[in-house]
Amino acid sequence: MPDGVVKNSSPLRWHNTPLKKILSEYVSCHITICRHIHVKAFVLDTFSDVWARPIIFHTTIGHGVGGALIIDGKIMFGDKGLMGEIGHIVVEPNGPLCGCGNRGCLESLISGPALAERIKNDIKNGVNTCLVNMIKKNDSIKDIIQLWGTAIRKGDNYALKIRNLVGEYFGHIIAITVICYDPNTIILDGYVTEQCSDYLSEKIKEKIKTEVCGVEARDIRIITAVKEEEAYFAKIAAKAALWELIQKT
Ligand SMILES: [Zn+2]
Repeated sequence: MPDGVVKNSSPLRWHNTPLKKILSEYVSCHITICRHIHVKAFVLDTFSDVWARPIIFHTTIGHGVGGALIIDGKIMFGDKGLMGEIGHIVVEPNGPLCGCGNRGCLESLISGPALAERIKNDIKNGVNTCLVNMIKKNDSIKDIIQLWGTAIRKGDNYALKIRNLVGEYFGHIIAITVICYDPNTIILDGYVTEQCSDYLSEKIKEKIKTEVCGVEARDIRIITAVKEEEAYFAKIAAKAALWELIQKT
């Protein structure tokens, strides 16, 4: 983000937060404020042959939902660093309140926190699922999502119903991005996506087939992002900052 101001972070509930200015009071080095998905896309894809592909849309479903567009090896930031914010496309106008202030954004329906909340509420309301005996009181959002993945693999009907709902919403939005950006590579990333990446990949293909024009002429590869630990991203974020400097020169 060129001015170092975080316009909106739904998971953190930050709005117009001057993060660069705040951090500069504590550290004296160069600071670059980047969306998480931009750093992930840069880190993961530059070290693979994927980066050579002309138009990549790198998506994630984790604490938030987002996307990064990479054209000819260059991440497209947009005017304010907000390009690819697909998590804030409204899919249910009267849906749950999103951290951005709108209702029914994709993120408010299928992000890790949204799904964990839904699962906990449904269990409270007596839904029939093996998750009742699997989820413990102090489980984190990531724990709950991983258990949901286990329930999917066990064939639990409720877990599959939630998976299908994620596929329906996400597939539809990815079909829209295909119309807008015409990518030839779509990368699936994030701890929610990890639980059902094969299913999501097939669902996206189905949605592209039924909702996108000119399908015959398109050659879209859908792949799963390489899994790395968050500490790895922290280390490599420095490289992203350097890369931003290089882009400016
Ligand atoms: Zn939103």
